Amino acid sequence: MNEEFSGAQAALLEWYVAAGADEAIGDAPVDRFAPRPAPRKPPASTSSAPRQPAPPPRQPPAAPAPALRSREANVQTARETAAAAATLAELRAALEAFDGCPLKATATNFVFADGKPGAPLMLVGEAPGAEEDRQGLPFVGPAGRLLDKMLEAIGIARKEAYISNILPWRPPGNRNPTDSEIAACLPFVERHIALAAPQILILVGGISAKSLLRSKEGIMRLRGRWLKYRPPEGEPMTARALLHPAYLLRQPAQKRVTWRDLLEIRERLDAN
Ligand code: URA
Repeated sequence: MNEEFSGAQAALLEWYVAAGADEAIGDAPVDRFAPRPAPRKPPASTSSAPRQPAPPPRQPPAAPAPALRSREANVQTARETAAAAATLAELRAALEAFDGCPLKATATNFVFADGKPGAPLMLVGEAPGAEEDRQGLPFVGPAGRLLDKMLEAIGIARKEAYISNILPWRPPGNRNPTDSEIAACLPFVERHIALAAPQILILVGGISAKSLLRSKEGIMRLRGRWLKYRPPEGEPMTARALLHPAYLLRQPAQKRVTWRDLLEIRERLDAN
């Protein structure tokens, strides 16, 4: 391959990734500026009647524009839909059908949960990454493998915990979810936690901790102590914030404090 050409290609790819495009969805490029084929002419008339001027060509019907809904309207729909779900299966179906989060349009798969519903420990992360989006399961990429090891270190097999995320759809290019995306999905997460009813809720990473605790404090201040998750309805629940395993992969020195958090979680489970 020509060096200059491959450099330009790499730069273009980098630009696409920075813009959030991270999946190839077709083999051939689509030239959206190419002129459209002219509309077909009606067959020439054979009658002897005087010719009428041809009607203007008909425009193809426009694709229906997606309904624009306010953030408040999306949150309201999410609240009502989530509240109507009486079981985890119903909640899963309701969230999968929910159209109030635009990430649904770009994700490959819907990612609901993994592990054992009703387990004493429920972990809520941020959002699916590339591998999770491919497999439709939470925490199955590199961060997930570290999370599995963290759980195993305190004697909990992955299948004995219940694992989900704030968002069930991957943000393109793993960008941070927006406040509106989180707000639209939060009623489902809150219902998810209520239905799973764990003894201890583990908030994995800053986005999960801040969203569910409705806190402005960062993860460094939230971790390292016992917290109360206060659901919109029902009793407060024991919660603990953990540094995100993706962060620990980048900052292995922080594993030491996380180990202390994990040991305290183990002690609390044993005491229950
Ligand atoms: N990070 C998360 O927060 N959740 C996943 O499922 C994967 C990576």
